[in-house]
Amino acid sequence: MENVIILGTGCAGLTAAIYTARANLNPLLIEGSQPGGQLTTTSEVENFPGFPEGIDGFMLMDNLRKQATRFGARFASDLIVSSDLTGDVKILKSASAQYETKGLIIATGAAPRLLNIPGEKEMYGGKGVATCATCDGAFYRNMEVVVVGGGDSACEEAMFLTRFCSKVYLVHRRGELRASKIMAERTVQHAKIQMVWNSAPEAVLADAQGNCRGIRLKNLQSGQVSELNCKGVFIAIGHVPNSAAFKGALPLDENGYFIPKQGSQVRTEIAGVYVAGDCADHIYRQAITAAGMGCQAAIELERWLSEH
Ligand code: NAP
Repeated sequence: MENVIILGTGCAGLTAAIYTARANLNPLLIEGSQPGGQLTTTSEVENFPGFPEGIDGFMLMDNLRKQATRFGARFASDLIVSSDLTGDVKILKSASAQYETKGLIIATGAAPRLLNIPGEKEMYGGKGVATCATCDGAFYRNMEVVVVGGGDSACEEAMFLTRFCSKVYLVHRRGELRASKIMAERTVQHAKIQMVWNSAPEAVLADAQGNCRGIRLKNLQSGQVSELNCKGVFIAIGHVPNSAAFKGALPLDENGYFIPKQGSQVRTEIAGVYVAGDCADHIYRQAITAAGMGCQAAIELERWLSEH
């Protein structure tokens, strides 16, 4: 049986690993489908304290991993699909293995939400549908693209894409942006960005080679359906926390985010089980706040283990 299992190897999981490893708890990290978490798909991280010139996202995660390994953290590649947290021994199951642990830190992160419209999945990842402008924007140099969404992420994606693209359409289902005032103003006023208000995407359209040629939109006020030509569609409509394996085992809010125990950011209703990072935080969603939660969870767990 393990002392500590940490699920996830993003900023939260790796920080928890550094702290629990340095406390001689010999943590086992289980990394799922995206080792290193969301930052591995970010180019430059400019706001992580301690790097005045910024740092490449992949490098930051690689450094955190090396730091955790240096103190004895171990890594396994597996996807946990169900759990039984009712006993003193917490049980985690993947398709092919079962893990048992005294303490658990869930730092499973969040994944970009998709529209679930025809064409989206078929063209996702290389054929014109994307969820990360920083990763894929440069492929659309001098082309017209569409960003879908109305929050800070959509504005940020649209602004970033103006560096490469000849024109960026920002398609939003309402008549005003949800984004912060300063981001919204900057976006709406940008010469390369054209707002498409009150419109919902109905399908991503493919050319003969199966690459994106445009998007079909429905105006939600008039009901009119139209097509917008573009080579890329960037979807920025929020994130879905990776919490499905714990449905029924721990309290989740209506969007699937873990709800920590009242009075704490990282404790849960079950003693010895902690949450950290984007799977439990829909407000800040920053690398540094995820790392902070990972640290808190590790310290809480270390204390709980020594008391029990
Ligand atoms: P968000 O604020 O939840 O916005 C999601 C947007 O997508 C909303 O405008 C929503 O429309 C739209 N949307 C959701 N589902 C949709 C669907 N099925 N079809 C069409 N549109 C859909 O998400 P976010 O922009 O990712 O931001 C999340 C949090 O991170 C926020 O607190 C944000 O402030 C923060 N953040 C901050 C920064 C920054 O400060 N630099 C950058 C990025 C994110 P409605 O408006 O109609 O609901």
